[in-house]
Amino acid sequence: MIDSSLLARLKAALPGDALVAGEGLAGRTEDWMHRQPMRSALLLRPASTGEVSAALALCHAAGQPVITHGGLTGLVHGADTAPTDVVLSLERMRRIESIDPLQRVAVVGAGVTLQQLQEAAEEQGLAFPLDLGARGSATLGGNASTNAGGNRVLRFGMTREMVLGLEAVLADGTVIPAMNRLIKNNSGYDLKQIFIGSEGTLGVITRLVLRLREKPARQDVAFAAVPGFDALAALLKHMDRSLGGGLSAFEVMWPEFYQLVTTPPARGRAPVPHGSPYYVLIESMGGDAAGDGERFQSAFEKAVQDGLVADAVVARSQAEIAAIWALRDDVLQTARWGLPFAFDVSLPIADMPAYVERVSSDLRARWPDVRAYVFGHMGDGNLHLVISPDGLPADARPAVERIVYAPLEQIGGAISAEHGIGLEKKAWLPISRSPAEIALMRTLKQALDPKGILNPGRVI
Ligand SMILES: Cc1cc2nc3c(=O)[nH]c(=O)nc-3n(C[C@H](O)[C@H](O)[C@H](O)COP(=O)(O)OP(=O)(O)OC[C@H]3O[C@@H](n4cnc5c(N)ncnc54)[C@H](O)[C@@H]3O)c2cc1C
Repeated sequence: MIDSSLLARLKAALPGDALVAGEGLAGRTEDWMHRQPMRSALLLRPASTGEVSAALALCHAAGQPVITHGGLTGLVHGADTAPTDVVLSLERMRRIESIDPLQRVAVVGAGVTLQQLQEAAEEQGLAFPLDLGARGSATLGGNASTNAGGNRVLRFGMTREMVLGLEAVLADGTVIPAMNRLIKNNSGYDLKQIFIGSEGTLGVITRLVLRLREKPARQDVAFAAVPGFDALAALLKHMDRSLGGGLSAFEVMWPEFYQLVTTPPARGRAPVPHGSPYYVLIESMGGDAAGDGERFQSAFEKAVQDGLVADAVVARSQAEIAAIWALRDDVLQTARWGLPFAFDVSLPIADMPAYVERVSSDLRARWPDVRAYVFGHMGDGNLHLVISPDGLPADARPAVERIVYAPLEQIGGAISAEHGIGLEKKAWLPISRSPAEIALMRTLKQALDPKGILNPGRVI
């Protein structure tokens, strides 16, 4: 239960509609994937930075744990709550304050959804290039606090590369206004980086200055069956070199995933026949409406001539582009047999085939009928492995995690490429970070949140 004197102070400090408790919480969940009903007994919905600051100052004084909620699309249990936690949601800080077409920056509240900004930027002939399947619900504050990756990291980088400045509130209510609008600013420590990717453990992000790009005039997409991994790696290098910086996605599917998303009950249909060892979606974006298309076509034809591609289609319309992307986005097919175990790992490209083979054979050795699906952002070295729980014993998760994570240690891989650590991967952090790095993380946490009230127990 929340301490009654703290509750009284919060009621006095915040407007009435900023506090939700009791029946008001009915129907509220805390996790998009698991639809877990909210366990916390008190939800705070501040509408301004001042209200976030006031709420945190009171919680800090009382030693009250606070869990920050964005769009709740995180996949590592970072937003899970206990009945004794207070939830602080950014859902009312949903205003796009400005879009400056000359400076190409947007200033937004942290509760603005990714899709909201994508659409607003487009109206001004600009683009916010971060993109991921959860765009309709995920918030920009959540994207920054998880340093989200997504489909076009190869070209535009992760969220970190798109945040010019931000405003954050520390555990004790101190507001850090680091709303830099400049691309180049080496004036002292780049403090925003402390909050980006730290999953809400060091501060609550309240506002952001985001870098926009000119809206591409042309998008080309091809889907190819590829005869082997060497050809796949050569295809990536060939397309990147030939497109002169235009390559914006290189999304690979192993055959089991391709079969799954192109066979009923999935809605998608196979653009190229089944039976190849790899499939890839290749996308290019550029500013030369006529020239880009020709460049893409000729680069792709050369790849076919060189034997890097076994079979392929090049999309001829926006509808065909959308149909190809829909296959890649249809990851929920993996949940047909129950909520799957989803992993997002990073590793050197050269190690990918041996790694996937080792994980698959170790899984099959233990559970011969296991369903495992592999796909991901190969251009970024990021693979998603999704393992269906059916046919596995109820307590299989730790053994599955060992099979997936342990080989990464020897090859310098990362246990999380883009989803973060949350509560789910904490035990495995030493695979990807040294003891000295983890000790420095603890030093930072202690300095910024000495009472440990912000997202306690997450990450470290
Ligand atoms: C279908 C689907 C596809 C996805 N695809 C991708 C993908 O391609 N790439 C990728 O990286 N992720 C992907 N994700 C994961 C998820 O969308 C991202 O992690 C996203 O950035 C989370 O944003 P959110 O607003 O939903 O955050 P939440 O889930 O609400 O929170 C995530 C974490 O950030 C903290 N947090 C949230 N807001 C703030 C804030 N304002 N200040 C401080 N801390 C905060 C929370 O406490 C929690 O620890 C996908 C998820 C789904 C469901």
